[in-house]
Amino acid sequence: MKVELQNITKIFPSRNKKSNEMVVAVNDFTFTVPDGKLIGLLGPSGCGKSTTLYMISGLQKPTSGKIFFGEDDVTELPPEKRGIGLVFQNYALYPHMTVKQNILFPLQNLKGVDKLSKEQMLDRVDEVSKLVQLEQYLDRKPSEMSGGQQQRVAIARALVKMPRVLLLDEPLSNLDARLRLQTREEIRRIQRETGITTIFVTHDQEEAMSISDMIVVMKLGVIQQVGEPQEVYDNPVNLFVSKFLGTPPINVFNGHIRSGKLYIGEEVIADAKDVSDKEVYVGIRPEGFIVDPNGKLTCNLESREVMGRDVSIVSNHPESANPIVRSIVDSESPIDVDAQTIKYNIKKTKMFVFDKETEERIFLEGDKLPYHLTQYVQEKESVNSKSSEESTQEENS
Ligand code: ADP
Ligand code: MG
Repeated sequence: MKVELQNITKIFPSRNKKSNEMVVAVNDFTFTVPDGKLIGLLGPSGCGKSTTLYMISGLQKPTSGKIFFGEDDVTELPPEKRGIGLVFQNYALYPHMTVKQNILFPLQNLKGVDKLSKEQMLDRVDEVSKLVQLEQYLDRKPSEMSGGQQQRVAIARALVKMPRVLLLDEPLSNLDARLRLQTREEIRRIQRETGITTIFVTHDQEEAMSISDMIVVMKLGVIQQVGEPQEVYDNPVNLFVSKFLGTPPINVFNGHIRSGKLYIGEEVIADAKDVSDKEVYVGIRPEGFIVDPNGKLTCNLESREVMGRDVSIVSNHPESANPIVRSIVDSESPIDVDAQTIKYNIKKTKMFVFDKETEERIFLEGDKLPYHLTQYVQEKESVNSKSSEESTQEENS
């Protein structure tokens, strides 16, 4: 089921009774979640992720705009008529019920044409508990299970009604690191097996990048960029996006453009033909540095950490926006650990230039332009329909 948001805006009255200021939680969102895909809504706390999810679920009404499931306008439809499954951060299971009763519960409340026989209900419970690998725990109470298992019960409960769309709001936040990793792989597997269109909310960039087919990066209720995780990482449209994605984070330098050249301090880093003179930020990913005694950028060497295949170098630079510059380079790199300075060349595809005032990307000659969302969906759809024949052949072989 394709999910489409058209110019969705949500304005809340202020929570502070003394002020009349409104909060624009979600500002003019337009994007399409392609059928059967897992999309990650990503952004810092308060950027409007949950509000977006609740509007898709029907728990909240948009102030303006429309929401479509497939070709159906569901904007005015109550949540129970939308065919959604919802999973929240805290699993909210019924503590006095067994796992089986918890999963059964949503089915027992179905009315009218949707009503199922006892046998049908038990079949469904069997099916989803297999899917989330909880068959052997059906008689336990939630308190007798780990956080990860409880979250799987919550997922089973959301899936048991066979929703058209699965909505997950920070479902892994209450789990410890190991379980978080495991459960996110589990969610990805379940999503692939069921093919249910899924919207996954998180503030954790690594989590979003690792499980999503597509991410929507948001800031203060405004969409910043939409695309495949790798595409967004490789081609951020602004400083915020470049900083939000990636661990270790991108290195940011103060720079300037003069007479068609990009400078950091006194050093010329690259050509910037046809760009007018201005102050800029230069973002360089840690993996974008190449150690070279004749390199263009000179940093003050602090320390070197060997990480097996790679070496992580900590240095600093007077124009760096952060106290340290971190690079990750090949372990074969010629590094003189006793030297005071280290020189780098920069990989062009790992360096992004941003206007200092607007923080928007300045594209240099040779830079690839990022996809716009609609182009993205259209292009992917046409690629998918072309390659679907090949992929069925692959599946059969
Ligand atoms: P996120 O899930 O990304 O952390 P939310 O969608 O919960 O963000 O909130 C977005 C903004 O809307 C925040 O500024 C939040 O304080 C505000 N907000 C959310 N719900 C309400 C509400 N019911 N009343 C007033 N303001 C709200
Ligand atoms: Mg939230």
